[in-house]
Amino acid sequence: MSGNRPDVVVVGSVNADLRIEVDMLPRPGETIHGGSPLWLGGGKGANQAVALARLGRSVALVGAVGSDQVSAGLARQLAAEGVNIDRLATVEGPAGQAVVFVDPSGENSIVVSPGANGAVHPDLVRRAHDELAGAKVVLAQLEIPVDAVLAAASATRGTFVLNPAPAVPLPPELLRRVDVLVPNRGELAQLCAAQPPATVDEVAALARRLPCAAVVVTLGGDGALVVAGDTVRHLEPPAVTAVDTTGAGDCFCGALADALADGHPLVDAAAFAVRAAALSVTVPGAQASMPTREQVLVLPA
Ligand code: ATP
Repeated sequence: MSGNRPDVVVVGSVNADLRIEVDMLPRPGETIHGGSPLWLGGGKGANQAVALARLGRSVALVGAVGSDQVSAGLARQLAAEGVNIDRLATVEGPAGQAVVFVDPSGENSIVVSPGANGAVHPDLVRRAHDELAGAKVVLAQLEIPVDAVLAAASATRGTFVLNPAPAVPLPPELLRRVDVLVPNRGELAQLCAAQPPATVDEVAALARRLPCAAVVVTLGGDGALVVAGDTVRHLEPPAVTAVDTTGAGDCFCGALADALADGHPLVDAAAFAVRAAALSVTVPGAQASMPTREQVLVLPA
């Protein structure tokens, strides 16, 4: 951290996740039995902030929790992870909550109720102007109102990274302010109003249609594709045994922001993120699965 200024500011959601293991993800109209319920800290903003803190990066989270006991616990847990929560507001009402189903292959289905995350308005973001303007990297997602994300982008002087998840229509004004967009394959397709791309060439062609300076598309077990100017680089992950992919995208975004904050070129930063995210899928849970820097550095190629 430079003075009290964090290197990275994450602007995003904080949720309490209810995780239930199931034999098969439920289909529409279906009622199924699941395993024991488990409450965990979640939300893309909180997960990405924890990913950064585990890597040893100075990070602040701009967002909101509710006025209930669950919210107080979520804030405590973030602080215990080393995330600066000075700009985490408390608003009347419940925290954001999510229900996460995970099948034996590690695939998941998630329903999110926004709660306090819906109260993250532009003015709340602007209160963190000094932190946003002073950060090397600002990292946002879309579990908070889009106009709050635009306010964060406008205040950023460093690198603005947007993980457009969940996919919602985005104003071109916001996309043009993005330095690095990090969608998964489905989010890329929705942003381009296209069918999900089947091949790496199709992913690259869609990414080139977006007005962002650079796009890093996460490809699940196939790693990630960097598309920036004339550069197209497919980065394959090391061989790992996936047990739970929950939070893999969040780990990827946090690790990418971490490496960008150190000034690494985008392809190198994405290669670091591919390795960190590969480790995250070997451990159950979202925040619980975020690796330390040492774990990433010793991972065999
Ligand atoms: P989630 O919503 O589950 O957090 P996502 O859909 O946002 O994930 P993915 O593309 O599924 O994002 O995964 C993010 C990154 O995690 C990938 O780019 C890859 O680096 C890593 N990853 C995911 N699944 C695997 C796997 N089976 N083996 C190795 N790495 C993986």
